[in-house]
Amino acid sequence: MKEIICVDLGGTKTRCGIFDIASSIPKHVSIVATPRHKTGEDVLTKILDGIRTYFEGTDVTAAIVVGAPGPLDIEKGIVIDAPLFQNFHNVPILSTIQDEFKVPTFVQNDANLAALGEYKYGAGAGSTTMIYLTVSTGVGGGIVINDQLLTGSRGFAAEPGHICIYPNGNLCGCGHRGCLEAYASGSAIESEAYRVVHQGVKTELLSVFNEKGKIQVEDIVRLANSGDSVSKNILIAAGSYIGIGLSSLVNVFNPDKIVLGGGVSNAGKLLLDPIKDKIATQALFPMSEQVTVSSWVIGDEAGLRGAYAYGLQQLGNEL
Ligand SMILES: [Zn+2]
Repeated sequence: MKEIICVDLGGTKTRCGIFDIASSIPKHVSIVATPRHKTGEDVLTKILDGIRTYFEGTDVTAAIVVGAPGPLDIEKGIVIDAPLFQNFHNVPILSTIQDEFKVPTFVQNDANLAALGEYKYGAGAGSTTMIYLTVSTGVGGGIVINDQLLTGSRGFAAEPGHICIYPNGNLCGCGHRGCLEAYASGSAIESEAYRVVHQGVKTELLSVFNEKGKIQVEDIVRLANSGDSVSKNILIAAGSYIGIGLSSLVNVFNPDKIVLGGGVSNAGKLLLDPIKDKIATQALFPMSEQVTVSSWVIGDEAGLRGAYAYGLQQLGNEL
């Protein structure tokens, strides 16, 4: 039986899975902590260890697919830079894997693969044009049109976290100002919580801060759901910013589905409702009414299953 080995390199966890070529459900998945504070070589070693475990037990490995944070040179399979990691520049993932295992190897942006996973097997099923937005530490995403990832001329599309929603606004990790990521990422949401606490606004967030010494998105979601209006307003504001960004994308791509993923999407309606409101009022009619917005269905394994789908496509198989 031919098999595909897939790796999803995340900011905190790295998933490695093995698929029979005829099934989109992984036979086995292993999860290890990503050594993000170490060097690119250390991260690469973890990836190779994960692949080796499966490779040694397979009959025929048809392909190896790796999802990695960008910006990423897809042709050469080199991660040019990964701001989430401490020392991860020009890491030659593709050539290192090919040199050792000598099978067809493909490297693609992790958020693009998650988009493809949700499109094929999750919340995007049945869609023709889908926009996927992942909101976690940062804001990423992918666009799938008629089964194909939109990769752009050199493979760097799509980066919806860095569309400008606020000229001369907050500084983003990319170095520019006013990006969506600077207003609606998990980090931006937590910064807003710290800001209101330090301003002395009356909120349950203060007790969390006093107790834990920090405030995390899950605390904000929990308190919002239990009636803390300040926490609720922080999430509504983030959702509104996401809605503003997505309205522009609706106008450009006329998607039938928008799927929201990533840890912050666990806020559910608190985030989805303001997104829907903004699209309804800011995107052009009738496109504003032709799109549905929902949370991811596959969740954390979307990237891995998208890697499988991408591997099949690259090998020339029908999805
Ligand atoms: Zn940016």
